[in-house]
Amino acid sequence: MNENYNGFQKEPPKEEPHCPRCGAPMPEGAAFCGNCGLQMQNQAPAVDVLSVWDYVLMMVIFSLPVIGLVLMLYWSFGGQVGINRKHFARAYLIFYAISLVLSFVMMGVIGSVTSEIVSEGLSLF
Ligand SMILES: [Zn+2]
Repeated sequence: MNENYNGFQKEPPKEEPHCPRCGAPMPEGAAFCGNCGLQMQNQAPAVDVLSVWDYVLMMVIFSLPVIGLVLMLYWSFGGQVGINRKHFARAYLIFYAISLVLSFVMMGVIGSVTSEIVSEGLSLF
């Protein structure tokens, strides 16, 4: 059991970043500790900011038959891919999978309805 848990707070208090060496409070995203000068190793990697056109371009690429899927997988799971691009690729991959499943379901429904109509039609003879 967490010692700090008091049973009332639903969310844990937002942790202020502290220097791992001297424990001094640090401003969020600081590269160095202002107290002891320790360089932060585990800072979040630099975020590549994607422009609107980057997103548009990615959507265009993703709509391409084969290249789109290959790049979607590469951007989703590739190593040297910016976090924004990676998340967008993963989101699109999920969307892609859902729409693929839905289209299969729709095909199944249409197929069964069609075969029902056909068999009913044949039973008339
Ligand atoms: Zn420090």
